[in-house]
Amino acid sequence: MIIKDEEFGEVIVRRNPLSNGVKFTVSTSGRLQMSVPKHASEFLIKRFLKQNRAIIREKLPVKDPSTQRARDAKKKILMKQAREYLPYRLDYWAKRYGYSYERCRLTHANTRWGSCSSTRTISLNIGLMKVPEKLRDYVILHELSHLNHMDHSQAFWAEVQSHDPHYREHRKKLKMFSPGV
Ligand SMILES: [Zn+2]
Repeated sequence: MIIKDEEFGEVIVRRNPLSNGVKFTVSTSGRLQMSVPKHASEFLIKRFLKQNRAIIREKLPVKDPSTQRARDAKKKILMKQAREYLPYRLDYWAKRYGYSYERCRLTHANTRWGSCSSTRTISLNIGLMKVPEKLRDYVILHELSHLNHMDHSQAFWAEVQSHDPHYREHRKKLKMFSPGV
């Protein structure tokens, strides 16, 4: 069940048959989660929330709805920019160095910039639109090189280097950015 709260936005309520108390946590998307006893009524849940505002505010870094909305909007803009740029840039480098891949997929995972699957699908993170072009190109060339080497062997890095002689520096600089939005 989801209840709307004027301060915390959408609060996810989970009924837990094993608990007889209320527990607060924050979901990965930044929303407040409440675990409540199985038969707690909505009225009681709302009252409990109201009575514990100060504690929640203090102990849990709940993102207020406007922050969440701003982040969603940012993601949407990045996705639009990425769609208009990354597949073409990938295609450009693939043609230039004679690679053929199956398809290009855009992702927004928080942990990786790109990947290349055994089915020759290249995934690129929309967060690449936030980094300098040289670093963006390094990621693309890295993933293209995986089409020939599905590992990080010496032969793989030699291939990356043949396309991007400064790949070491680019790889290092990329660590200063995070793929997450
Ligand atoms: Zn790799």
